[in-house]
Amino acid sequence: MSDNCLFCKISRGDIPSRKVYEDDELYAFHDIHPIAPVHFLVVPKRHITSLQDVSQEDAGVLGRMTVLLPQLALEQGCRPGPEGGFRVMVNNGADGGQEVPHLHYHVIGGPRPWKRD
Ligand code: 5GP
Ligand code: ZN
Repeated sequence: MSDNCLFCKISRGDIPSRKVYEDDELYAFHDIHPIAPVHFLVVPKRHITSLQDVSQEDAGVLGRMTVLLPQLALEQGCRPGPEGGFRVMVNNGADGGQEVPHLHYHVIGGPRPWKRD
């Protein structure tokens, strides 16, 4: 947990968000500026700055996150099968275009066109 981190605050409920999913280790919520009909973020509750900072002890939670993503994508309105699908995007560090320094997976989908194709 990091006191000054926006996504730590959101995942522990100190700052409101539109929740998609929560368990002991993970929190998912709608992006405040969606770029597609479906756009939510999934974060580990434990503060990890980016994929540049993961260690072996994070393998379990990140594995669970991978299994959870397609499930949540369908629940949020992404279409199944090859004609449907969704995009998963993870920005890491300044060169990677990361704006919020708490590891988060964007899940983006729904019928096109999107605001940014
Ligand atoms: P990044 O550029 O770091 O990969 O993405 C940060 C994302 O967080 C952006 O898509 C932005 O819209 C979203 N975001 C920033 N601040 C907030 C907030 O306070 N609440 C929510 N729900 N999303 C936020
Ligand atoms: Zn954090």
